[in-house]
Amino acid sequence: MRLPGFEYLNPQNLDQTLDMLAEHKDEAKILAGGTDLLVRMKKGLLAPKYIISLKALDSLSYIKDESDCIKIGTRTPIADIIASKPVQKHARALFQACEKIGAVSIQHYKGTIGGNILQNNRCHHYNQSDFYRSGRQACHKDGGKICYAREEADRCNSTCQSDGATALMALGAGLTLAGKDNKREVELANFYTTDGIMPFAMESQELLTEISIPKTNGESAYKRLAYRSAIDYPIVCAGVLLESDNSDKIVRARIVVGAMGRAPLLLANAASKLKGKDMNDQATFKDAATAAMSSAAAFAVHNVGSTLEYRCAMVEEMVLQALKEI
Ligand SMILES: Cc1cc2nc3c(=O)[nH]c(=O)nc-3n(C[C@H](O)[C@H](O)[C@H](O)COP(=O)(O)OP(=O)(O)OC[C@H]3O[C@@H](n4cnc5c(N)ncnc54)[C@H](O)[C@@H]3O)c2cc1C
Ligand code: SF4
Repeated sequence: MRLPGFEYLNPQNLDQTLDMLAEHKDEAKILAGGTDLLVRMKKGLLAPKYIISLKALDSLSYIKDESDCIKIGTRTPIADIIASKPVQKHARALFQACEKIGAVSIQHYKGTIGGNILQNNRCHHYNQSDFYRSGRQACHKDGGKICYAREEADRCNSTCQSDGATALMALGAGLTLAGKDNKREVELANFYTTDGIMPFAMESQELLTEISIPKTNGESAYKRLAYRSAIDYPIVCAGVLLESDNSDKIVRARIVVGAMGRAPLLLANAASKLKGKDMNDQATFKDAATAAMSSAAAFAVHNVGSTLEYRCAMVEEMVLQALKEI
């Protein structure tokens, strides 16, 4: 598998990067670590005319421990996040998620947190070689009109398998996006479309620059299931945040399930079962986990391996494990 031809652009600062994005728009792709982008290009899934590298943008690689939040530049390597004391202390779910991403080589060598959030949705019918796909009718994501994963689907149901995004959504993270003439902030939970072909609500000339994680008095945890313990994507994952008062009553809860839909699923109904309950109420944890399973089942598509029944059952297990850990 060889990379298709492209023009490599190497901006030296943020302004130059935004100028290039504004000029080339859909014809360009940002290259952070390349561990998602280059694999897709080698499989013939995309062939951008221009690659805009973030290699020289050290200004996007940082972790800032501020009074009310942790700010992370999007080109920060996954390994730096794992090693960060503020992240370990205030955003444990993210620390646990990053430890599971790919393999040590991906975490240390190239993979970034921005690229992790923006990695393309996956589907085992589609994320195959050119040769494999050429033997079948094209699906929606390949420019056709059918979906192998869900019969009669009018759109692509490819799945978001980002560990980082699931944990960050549980933590209530926000994103900063910059364009040539504008800058905007958006909650990660509101950043997704309902189409697996372009799952992110961002323009082609925008750059994801920063992630902001609010500090709370709560605790968070992240659990995931994959076939292998390394170099494998999750087939189910869950991030949970719990905040309690002085008498150990839960005052705020967030439950997010990943690898079950086109985006991580923020499950408000399941979380509401926990509000006002005791931090050690195991029966309530079970109720919330069962509710999470029912809600997630509505989005589940058979396209990341294993059976749907198994993955749905494991939603309950992952949520329960995360709650118990907290
Ligand atoms: C073998 C293997 C196993 C993997 N296992 C996992 C896993 O277990 N869990 C998991 O979550 N991921 C996994 N991945 C996916 C990937 O390695 C990670 O998600 C990694 O963090 C992606 O970061 P990157 O910097 O390499 O992204 P890149 O490949 O550089 O970028 C990914 C996408 O985001 C865009 N992009 C990147 N940064 C920006 C930005 N700042 N602004 C706008 N667009 C941007 C790129 O254009 C591209 O479309 C795996 C990959 C491989 C090859
Ligand atoms: S979910 Fe359907 S349309 Fe999307 S990539 Fe898979 S088979 Fe193709």
